Amino acid sequence: MDRQKRKTLQMGLLAAGGGLSVLSPAQASTTKSPFTVRPITIPIAGTDEVFPVRRIYCIGRNYAAHAREMGSDPTREPPFFFQKPTDAIQFVPLGVTADHPYPSLTKNYHYEVELVVALKSGGKNIPMNRALDCVYGYAVGLDMTRRDLQRMMGDQKKPWEIGKSFDQSAPIGPLYPASRIGHFQQEKISLSVNGETKQNASLAHMIWSVAEQITKISEANELFAGDIIYTGTPENVGPVVKGDVIVCKIDRLPDLSIKIV
Ligand code: MN
Repeated sequence: MDRQKRKTLQMGLLAAGGGLSVLSPAQASTTKSPFTVRPITIPIAGTDEVFPVRRIYCIGRNYAAHAREMGSDPTREPPFFFQKPTDAIQFVPLGVTADHPYPSLTKNYHYEVELVVALKSGGKNIPMNRALDCVYGYAVGLDMTRRDLQRMMGDQKKPWEIGKSFDQSAPIGPLYPASRIGHFQQEKISLSVNGETKQNASLAHMIWSVAEQITKISEANELFAGDIIYTGTPENVGPVVKGDVIVCKIDRLPDLSIKIV
């Protein structure tokens, strides 16, 4: 192909949207589309603002006792991350026990209570001593898991998505700005099912701190405002069935509650 032809083809591709598909905000507001896609947001407590969600990162096996119960050695394993789609978020308002549908395809549906950190800025290779500067705020979240499918796919060395990244697999409460409540280090984190305590630990038991997780993720992907991170669950994960009520507690944040329906 001669240079002129190639240039003409490139121009045509660009005009047809075959070039860069990421639009600037200004372009996006003037670009027509055949339908709209619901923006994913989390309400910010005590304000009329919402936090727009860009990506959901989750860390695996971040509490030693949970790593052991999942069959791995917490002393040797580097941190690893997976993602959920942003529309996996199920926002649970303050003081509400939200109906949470038991998902299809599983017979072993597990809870994992987690502290969620939300970012207001990002970057690549963020140094540890600047990582918390990126934090907008915190929320209580659940990393709901089709454990049977997660295990089956893991055993077959296939991707985990069907076990972790399905619709409504990420219940979350309102976001609390760090500017108002500070950061979290050694607060208690717990979960009960029908009033019976199942998970009960301290955020101090995290293998990789919030700052370390931000640093580690930013080595693999550039982080941006709008990214949120599910920071891992402590030990004693377990199954729920329809009718069960889950209550999640993290000190200094309000409870998060769902009913499996
Ligand atoms: Mn988890």
